[in-house]
Amino acid sequence: MIQFRVEKKSARLHDPRKGFELVEIESEVRYDPLTGESARICHFSLSAPPPTEIADIVAASRGHCPFCPERIATVTPRFPEALLPGGRLARGDALVVPNLFPYDDISAIAVLGREHFVPMDAVPPQLVIDGLAAARDFIGVARRELADGEGFGIVTWNYMPPAGASQVHPHLQVVVTRNPGNALARSLEAAARFGSRTGRAFPAELLAAERARGERWIGERGAIAWLAPFTPTGLLGDLAAVFRERATVLDLSDDDVADFAHSLAEVLAALAARGLWSFNLCLMPAPFGDTSGRHWLTARLLPRFYLNPRLHVSDVAYLHLLLEERFAMLYPEEVAAALRGALPGLAR
Ligand SMILES: [Zn+2]
Repeated sequence: MIQFRVEKKSARLHDPRKGFELVEIESEVRYDPLTGESARICHFSLSAPPPTEIADIVAASRGHCPFCPERIATVTPRFPEALLPGGRLARGDALVVPNLFPYDDISAIAVLGREHFVPMDAVPPQLVIDGLAAARDFIGVARRELADGEGFGIVTWNYMPPAGASQVHPHLQVVVTRNPGNALARSLEAAARFGSRTGRAFPAELLAAERARGERWIGERGAIAWLAPFTPTGLLGDLAAVFRERATVLDLSDDDVADFAHSLAEVLAALAARGLWSFNLCLMPAPFGDTSGRHWLTARLLPRFYLNPRLHVSDVAYLHLLLEERFAMLYPEEVAAALRGALPGLAR
């Protein structure tokens, strides 16, 4: 029912590194089992990003950070009372405030804790628990602003500048919208088509198939299953966490939030041990109120880096942005194998 389709490619060239011997260099194109969209895997030698001086970035950003405790109350905005009584929503050490640069009707930031910089190898699970629970609670309140309550509650995290974060201080974006973005819209349409064609829920079939094959399966904790997607998104691979039978962030219990936070912290530490220090995270939901079971809430975790820090070479280029072709230098099976041994808190 699930197809993992691969096309092998082979480039022939006289290689100056081998005395101009004729060599064949293999690559492959894979097709996403849900959407059919393609991704390329070219097995270059770079398996870890070059080092960057993170301490300089942290020091340069601290003095004018709007999210540090001494400034947050005076420089971050407040929501109108009608939308959110009190104007801001606190939960533990997390604080939800409006995004001063909103990109939708309801566009918020969940500031994670009082520490300006949290290293990726030591993200406290409680920081994520407070932030995600606050985001969930805010979405529950803000959803009432949507006509008929229809739309999406999307939670994302850009961590550190290679991922597009303009603030080093850890923070989530929380958007309540009728416009879920092209990638999520395509996934939802494809999941609906899969359901109509087969009578089955795609995420259930995918998890069963990946677990049986095992090569991209990483492990699970509570309702959350971690795997490396068959069609990778990032140059050094990426990961997905599928929340079984949960459609939206509003469906998450406190236990689900804690299971996600603990497993995410472990995964981030394992990625940091490979030299990674930045990532994008997006929790991709079904629409509010969806009970079809055809899409399960899925977190996509995408490590980001400078391909060459000295020259400021980005890890995305025309392929990703203009041709919308994903491109990786590591096979997802390698990414999963490297992580499986490094995550004691996940059950196989
Ligand atoms: Zn700060």
